[in-house]
Parts: sequence; structure tokens; C-alpha cells
Amino acid sequence: NTPLHELDPAVAAAVDAELHRQQSTLEMIASENFAPVAVMEAQGTVLTNKYAEGYPGRRYYGGCEHVDVIEQIAIDRVKELFGAEHANVQPHSGAQANAAAMFALLKPGDTIMGLNLAHGGHLTHGMKINFSGKLYDVVAYHVGDDGQVDMAEVERLAKERKPKLIVAGWSAYPRQLDFAAFRRIADEVGAYLMVDMAHFAGLVAAGLHPNPVPHAHVVTTTTHKTLGGPRGGVILSTAELAKKINSAVFPGQQGGPLEHVIAAKAVAFKVAASEDFKDRQRRTLEGARILAERLVEDDVKAAGVDVLSGGTDVHLVLVDLRDSALDGQQAEDRLHEVGITVNRNAIPNDPRPPMVTSGLRIGTPALATRGFTAEDFAEVADVIAETLKAPSPFEAAHVDALRARVTALAEKYPLYPGLK
Ligand code: PLP
Repeated sequence: NTPLHELDPAVAAAVDAELHRQQSTLEMIASENFAPVAVMEAQGTVLTNKYAEGYPGRRYYGGCEHVDVIEQIAIDRVKELFGAEHANVQPHSGAQANAAAMFALLKPGDTIMGLNLAHGGHLTHGMKINFSGKLYDVVAYHVGDDGQVDMAEVERLAKERKPKLIVAGWSAYPRQLDFAAFRRIADEVGAYLMVDMAHFAGLVAAGLHPNPVPHAHVVTTTTHKTLGGPRGGVILSTAELAKKINSAVFPGQQGGPLEHVIAAKAVAFKVAASEDFKDRQRRTLEGARILAERLVEDDVKAAGVDVLSGGTDVHLVLVDLRDSALDGQQAEDRLHEVGITVNRNAIPNDPRPPMVTSGLRIGTPALATRGFTAEDFAEVADVIAETLKAPSPFEAAHVDALRARVTALAEKYPLYPGLK
């Protein structure tokens, strides 16, 4: 029972350094968040030792009486949170949730439709070298010139190509999708509608974003983005599809479930039903709106920086750098220098290669979890604006001044003060 710091100082030192990084910088990667200590505590329990292939009450291993209780709590809570008839909380990740959902509903070679990767879709929505692109015949839809999903194209392609499954969902899109319209199109061509709400699940749970569950046959999500829980996936479905979904997850895609992560998911679902969580999601949306508004002001526009679709309805802003002297990589590096972590992101019709890009994806969930108010978001938005519009070379004195403003914000909201 030797503690980590004694048993493995090398790993412990890197963990400590990562804690310090998270505490001293501003995390604005749109898919990240800070899990509550109780969630991390649940993940660090003896449940990691337990094999539990199967489902509560129907396991292939003995000694599952306690993990059964935990998994059932997680299932009941997530069904209640989103109003779903059926939930499977076992997928190890969002990608595995999507793989299992497709495995349940499709045969290799079937046609699927998803949002093009460069237009905001996820790898698992049909990217060429992802399982989804290799196993299925993919038809991609796109955003139009206004930056919004082109529903006329979705309808036209669906009628032409008759997909078995339409995926509505995104990793980098600043607006809301029309789930009812997607369902109408799916019904017209006899397709399943699968909504991947990985990014906006927290907003849905808080009642601040339309809920896809009443519209879709299947809804998948991760539990670690806006939802703020442990890294993992969940599949929600109609009762009719429950059996297919469960057998696609186990034994179709996975072996033993990660019951320690499922316990942490259960805790996160409890948190997600709270008033505090709603307040956090409200501040998340407000922060993203404040950021978008700052980045379309004249001084920023003059530096060739713009905001895709002109604003945001969700927890992220997509910055368009096509007319900027900075490419996505340079902009990401600059923000890193001042202590703000974001990711570069390909934008629709990006003239630069995917490793460089002409875009940034900037999200507010982690800072809202940290406690940021509208006033704090206005300050961070201004730091980002100043960083992106500064001429090259980025002068050291300017970097220091901006970094000091970032440090002041980080110190205002100590993160995990109880941890070393
Ligand atoms: N679906 C969407 C929309 C995502 O954005 C992501 C992750 O970024 C995933 C699925 C995959 O989740 P994971 O990284 O847990 O496999």
C-alpha cells in the first residue's frame, strides 16, 4: 500500500505538474472541463478491481451485488436527467458509444450521413480512416455560407442516397441543430436518427438547449465535456432499441465495464441535476456570447480575425483566421504563451492544411466550472482579443502584461484547493 509519490515518483511528479498547469492557466478547450473532486474520488475506488461483464442482475461474474447497485443508479439518473426510455452507461468513451450505436443499427456497407469533419463533425461521423468511414458508405453534409448546417442539402442528399442512419451532432459548431427537421427527413427516407450530443449534453441537462431525446432513435454522449463528469460515454435510446444497444456494447464492442468510471458517471449525473449545475451552464453560455461579441469588435476585425456564423448559441466560439496574419497553429501558440489553452481547428473551406488550420475553437465550460462570471469572461475575452490582434513579433512586454492578467484571473478562482 505504498503511496504513489513513494512508489512511482516519476509518474507522481508529472501528475503534480499537470495539476499545477490546470491551476495556473485558463482552460478554454471546448471539450474539456474540471470534474468535481467527488467524481475523481469515485474513479479512484476499489471498483477498478471488479469484473462485471453483463448488466445489473445479469452478470457473467460473481460478486457483482455492489457494482449492480452503482450501475443501476447511474442508469436511472441519466434516464431521468434526459427523459430517456433506455440508457447504457458502459461505453468507455464517446467514440465507443458511437461505434456501438452504429454496430447496433447497421451492417458494414450500409450508408450513413454525418456532418463533414472540416465543417464541424466528429471523426466517428464518417471520417475516412475512422471505423465509421471504413465500415460504412459515408455521405457528408456541410454548413452553408452562413456557417449553419444546410438543411436543404441534408434533405437532398438523404433523398438521393437513402442512408440507413443520419447522425446529427458536432464537435465544432457554434449553433443549435434542428432535431425535429432531422427526424422528419430521417422518417421520409426510412433512416434512423442518431444524435451525438457529446458537446452540448450539459446544456441539455440544464434545460438551456433543445433536448434531442424526444426526436432521435438513439442519442450518444460523452460524460466529460459540458456534462463535467469522468471521461466516458453513454447511449440513450428508445425502449424498443434497448436490447440491440445493450448487446452491441457488450459483447459487441467491449468486455468488462469500468465500474469505477460508472460510479463517477453516477455522481456526475447527480451533480448535473442540481441548481448549481444550471447556474454553471448559464454562465458557460453567457461567457461564450461575451467572447463572440468581443471578437467581432472593430479593433479585432481590423486584424483579420472573425467569428464563424457571427456568434454562438452554445459553449464555444469558432474563430476564423483566414484573413489574419496568424494561422491556427500560431494563434494557439500565442494564447499558450499568455496562459490560455485552446485548440486550433479546421474551418469550412480551410485554405490551410489540417495540422495548421485557419481557425481556433474556444470554449467556456471549464472556466464556468471554475466560477467565472460575466465580468471575468469579459476580461478573458479582452485578453484573447489583444493577443490575437497584436502585431508580430509578439513583444515580450506585451506577453508579460497579458500573462499577468491571466494569472490574476486564475488566482481569483483557485482550482482544486484541497489537492496538493
Ligand atoms: N462525439 C463528439 C461529437 C465529440 O466531440 C467527441 C470527442 O471529441 C466524441 C464523440 C468522442 O469522444 P471520446 O474522445 O470520449 O472518444
